[in-house]
Amino acid sequence: MNRIKVSENFFLDEFIDPHSYLTRSDNGLGLIDKKVIAIAQKVRELKGSSITINNWWNHLDKYTGDAVKFLKYCNDSRFIRCWSGYRSPLCTIGATNSAHRKGWAADMAGDEKEYYNIVKGNAACFYFMGLRRLEDRSITKGWMHFDIWEKNTQPNSIRVVDLKKCTETIRW
Ligand SMILES: [Zn+2]
Repeated sequence: MNRIKVSENFFLDEFIDPHSYLTRSDNGLGLIDKKVIAIAQKVRELKGSSITINNWWNHLDKYTGDAVKFLKYCNDSRFIRCWSGYRSPLCTIGATNSAHRKGWAADMAGDEKEYYNIVKGNAACFYFMGLRRLEDRSITKGWMHFDIWEKNTQPNSIRVVDLKKCTETIRW
């Protein structure tokens, strides 16, 4: 199986869970909004080094043709990420109305403060690419969640939210 390149540095499997990827005729391409991929690529360029979103592809040697079994294998390992982009109905983590469920979000592993500074320092650019919300870095230790959901947002701003409220409105 060859990987499907979706941007300069990312492959489709990094945004799609293994079960959707391995069972759908489009490998899940229609499940992730292309703005999420473009934003991830922009963060990657500004960061200047590689970024991990899903990494289940590295464990594909364990896939025997049974996508349900392989998903369970991935789920059971705390080192394998498979829900950092699109989350299907088979996903049992996170909120049921999360932006991930709509294919509108991604979680990038790494230094949450570095990611925050990249977005804040280029906020207008990211806004016009479609980025609307970040999760407050106090609840995302070791990763950054971003999404494109226009939910309680204001024009020309990026909303920073924790589980209950808005903690910051980034403007430029
Ligand atoms: Zn997230």
